[in-house]
Amino acid sequence: GLTLIIITGLPTSGKSTRAAQLYSYLSERIASQQQPDNNKKYRLHLISDQTQNISRTVYDLSQLPAHVRSANASEKDARAAIYGAVKRVLSPRDIVVLDGLNYIKGWRYQLYCEAKNMSTPHAVLQVGCSMDRARGVNQARLDRRKNNNTQQTPGQQQQSEPTGQMITQQLEQTTGGGQGGVEVGDEDEEPEPYAPENWENLVFRYEEPNPMTRWDSPLFTLVWDDSPSETKSVFDKLWDAIAGEGKKLVRPNQ
Ligand code: ADP
Repeated sequence: GLTLIIITGLPTSGKSTRAAQLYSYLSERIASQQQPDNNKKYRLHLISDQTQNISRTVYDLSQLPAHVRSANASEKDARAAIYGAVKRVLSPRDIVVLDGLNYIKGWRYQLYCEAKNMSTPHAVLQVGCSMDRARGVNQARLDRRKNNNTQQTPGQQQQSEPTGQMITQQLEQTTGGGQGGVEVGDEDEEPEPYAPENWENLVFRYEEPNPMTRWDSPLFTLVWDDSPSETKSVFDKLWDAIAGEGKKLVRPNQ
């Protein structure tokens, strides 16, 4: 059965961009696996803070008085919401791409156990990016937001960040993806930036995946500069790991 793919990486390191690329890649693979009775074998889901309307501020410890910091209730609530969303759709027929920081080892372990409970395979995709670049992306978002608030009337929003979309298009060309790919989210709406201290603190708290542990393996990695063909080859390997020949494919209603 299938499958939970956990994306992880530093804040603003390109996770959502890769998640969107993976989503289009998987939807093509699924479409090409159509059953003779025209039933789709798999249903694909993208779950993220954005799809669950979770604000970046839930991660911000500086917003909390010191004595509640260890409990950090808002982040726990956010994780519970994500967990609920994953559980609702996780079945042998569903593929979940879980886009997010997923930076806590214990949280990744919990998700792994959930997948195991459902006998659904799981994989981790780490998105790598230099600290300076990731910080720069967040800073640019903060700057644009500030400029938009001071200089522009609503509806006059600046066109921003074409790069992520451009590489998605390039990837679609590489994978032969027609039909304009898949719409994921509202592309005009710029994701919420992190407050600078929140960003730094999340980097500090980040718990690197360890491929020697069951819950962080199989572990796949993509870095910022990976070309569309390198990206496709990582996605191919990921697909083989979760749905490849060696895996028993579960048919609907079985
Ligand atoms: P995250 O989900 O980690 O917060 P995003 O995917 O939103 O990060 O990436 C931040 C911005 O960086 C995107 O809007 C995109 O413009 C750009 N970007 C991300 N990954 C790449 C990449 N591999 N190559 C070029 N630009 C990228």
